[in-house]
Amino acid sequence: MKISRRVLAAASALLMLGSGAAFAQAPAPADSLKVTLCGTSGPLPVRDRAKPCVAIQAGGSLYLVDIGSEASENLQLWRMPIATTRAVFITHLHSDHIGDLGEFNMQSWVAGRPAPLQVVGPPGVEHLAAGLNEAYGPDHGFRHAHHEHGAVKLPIAAGLLQARVIPMPAKPDAQGVQSHVAWRQDGLTVTAIAVNHKPVAPAYAYRFDYKGRSVVVSGDTIKWLPLATASKGADVLIHEAQNNGMTRQLSDGLAMIGQDRMSSILGDTVSYHTTPVEAAEIAKLAGVKQLVLTHLTQAGLPFFTPEAFTKGIDAVGFPNWRLAKDGMTIDLPVGGDEIRFGQN
Ligand SMILES: [Zn+2]
Ligand SMILES: [Zn+2]
Repeated sequence: MKISRRVLAAASALLMLGSGAAFAQAPAPADSLKVTLCGTSGPLPVRDRAKPCVAIQAGGSLYLVDIGSEASENLQLWRMPIATTRAVFITHLHSDHIGDLGEFNMQSWVAGRPAPLQVVGPPGVEHLAAGLNEAYGPDHGFRHAHHEHGAVKLPIAAGLLQARVIPMPAKPDAQGVQSHVAWRQDGLTVTAIAVNHKPVAPAYAYRFDYKGRSVVVSGDTIKWLPLATASKGADVLIHEAQNNGMTRQLSDGLAMIGQDRMSSILGDTVSYHTTPVEAAEIAKLAGVKQLVLTHLTQAGLPFFTPEAFTKGIDAVGFPNWRLAKDGMTIDLPVGGDEIRFGQN
């Protein structure tokens, strides 16, 4: 049979789009702990930034820390091997961190994920998983009935979300850290660390250790010294950051034009985030090699500039920091101490 050029072009375009992710994966890289920032904004819309999501590849599997809205599309557009996803670690149940869980679950199942997707996190993830399983029941039924024939298998059971609530100890250890090993697989250990995002509680950070390389994802928190303790010796700390001066500026501006409701809601948020300067202080205390600032809620503001956002950070004396960008990759090859930045 002769295949026309046009047909080939259409097929390769589809593969590029990731709709055939299960059979269109990029070649396996050398053994490493690899991070891809799949969403770097906060709850407000920011052009070119999805809501919070960090993808981590280790031991031939993909793991996510949070899956905010628009992040699932990023992962597919970059041809990430989503069918190999084992678990999504949820930092806390704010909507900006979970918005794309249903969509990602469906997409990774259709791409060929062979088993249920584990949803690991604080109490409440069991309701999240059960609710989405119920809400997506008809969709999964339609797709199963329509697409499962011949060699194509689309078992309903593999498309389910399966919750695992982390049994976090009630009290901190001798170092003042509340933590629990949440996952061990193929050389990867994931430790959940309690952070402080009150009144939202509990809220967790996650530390990924793989064959001597390590990365910590803070989730949402105020400057929290136990997180510095738990991040000791890590290669990379991916920390949330909010410039409270900018937030107050925006809140005041909204009040001046009569937008009292949004002014009040934004004003509330200064109490439960970390400033860029404070994040650098945590990175310095922890002695990590690299800090990446993410959850950049303010990146969509007309007066946002990286310089204004990070004002005062140089005085901390921790020069190895960067602002996160959607598609940024951080590769930590096993057997060395190299930190390789790239961009999707
Ligand atoms: Zn958030
Ligand atoms: Zn939050």
